[in-house]
Amino acid sequence: MEMLINGKAAPAANATWIDVKNPATGESVDRVPRGSRDDVDAAVEAADAAFGAWSEKTMRDRGLLLARAAEMVRRDHKQLAELLTREQGKPLHESIDEVRGCANILEYYASIAGQPAGETVNLGKAGDCLVTRVPLGVCGAIIPWNMPVLIMGWKVGPALLAGNSLVLKPASTTPLTNLKIAGLLQEAGLPAGVLNVVTGTGEMVGEALVRHAKIKKISFTGNCATGHRIRALAGDHLKALTLELGGSDPMIVMADADIPRAVEGALRGRFYNAGQICTAVKRLYLHEKIAGEFMHLLTTRVESIKIGNGLLAGTEMGPLNNAAKMDRISNVVQEATNRAEGKILTGGSPVTGKEYENGFFYRPTLIADVPPDAAVLRDEIFGPVLPVMTVPDLGTAIREANRSQYGLGASVWTRDLPTVKEVFQNVHAGIIWVNRHLTVPPEVPFGGTNESGIGRENGFHALDSYTQTKTLFLGW
Ligand code: NDP
Repeated sequence: MEMLINGKAAPAANATWIDVKNPATGESVDRVPRGSRDDVDAAVEAADAAFGAWSEKTMRDRGLLLARAAEMVRRDHKQLAELLTREQGKPLHESIDEVRGCANILEYYASIAGQPAGETVNLGKAGDCLVTRVPLGVCGAIIPWNMPVLIMGWKVGPALLAGNSLVLKPASTTPLTNLKIAGLLQEAGLPAGVLNVVTGTGEMVGEALVRHAKIKKISFTGNCATGHRIRALAGDHLKALTLELGGSDPMIVMADADIPRAVEGALRGRFYNAGQICTAVKRLYLHEKIAGEFMHLLTTRVESIKIGNGLLAGTEMGPLNNAAKMDRISNVVQEATNRAEGKILTGGSPVTGKEYENGFFYRPTLIADVPPDAAVLRDEIFGPVLPVMTVPDLGTAIREANRSQYGLGASVWTRDLPTVKEVFQNVHAGIIWVNRHLTVPPEVPFGGTNESGIGRENGFHALDSYTQTKTLFLGW
């Protein structure tokens, strides 16, 4: 597949390629250009040329186009989902959810087009101010491989609705579905150059985008170290930034919780997408009164998860996305075992057998009785491994939940309102769920505190972040 620059399919200027492989089988799915700085320059120039006319359209016209594109994403959802599974690894039903999620976001932004975005300020006899919101110009979006289609929607929807043009860099292991969806936006009538997709490595294409003098904002989703690097590079031109970085979400289950419901919440919260979600349940804190019953039920459910190629019917968990992530997960568990940091109840090793030998399959793993200062609680585990700690009371649970450099999401499972209030007021996170985890609808602002990043995606908050105010001061 080729890149998308100025409305046309484009090979790399240097004619080299990246092979995109199926993480379940190791087979090649397709290849994409290994883009260079020249390709980024060409894409930014195209976006810059397209910006004026696009920003002058009414927001309603831009919204209508997003709605048309959403319709096409729905029309093609089966092919898109299959392609996503082949490049990313997740089960087909999860890919379908994700593709529909992308359509939902585009539709949501279409639905808020034209709603009031500015304000007036009355200054008495001194005058009146009309505060308008204008787009920033050319923006850059850098996408990770774990939820590439959803996250593309999170960035493209608000950026384009606000009137910006965009250069998007997909992750090198999952560029294909992003390119297909960009093609659908073109088919829906997006003018050439408004959305460009440049494939290639983070070090080359990603950094060239972040360094480019004409880029006004970078919206990045990925790991913390990359986020820090991007922030430093973006400082040179004072670019606006949204950084959605890592997370290590705690899930707190109190003694009064609906236990079967909470067990299902932990199962989905940790093992959906093989645990490769920034807001996955990464630390489980169980009240000691229900810990035994909870772990018995959870272990039984975890052992029943059907692992396999995401394209096969009945698969509940696919492979990890790439070799580096597989090595990292294996090492994390091995080190926890070496240091005797907890007891492995189930899992703890790669899946063996002929059908798994060419893929990155790791068994869903539960580690109980983890000490509070263990590395598996401190570091983000981006895979199907769940460390569990038993706590005597809510105060301890909150203290332990906050013992992390991250602050993306957190959940509490209880029927007690004062408990909810305590958690909401005291746990450091951008979102606190009650009797839920993971759900992030397009209307709801999403993002974290501390090392989890800066800024918010979704809702009006994201739309605002792709604009700046411009004020007309009428001095009477
Ligand atoms: P990376 O930061 O390595 O990669 C994410 C994207 O950044 C890829 O497109 C990558 O390109 C690109 N990139 C890599 N290096 C650079 C660079 N120096 N300059 C510019 N771009 C670069 O992230 P991971 O692959 O580790 O992704 C998983 C991480 O993402 C997890 O830590 C997870 O928590 C986080 N994440 C956060 C979310 C949130 O909303 N808070 C949502 C989803 C994930 P390439 O693929 O070519 O290397």
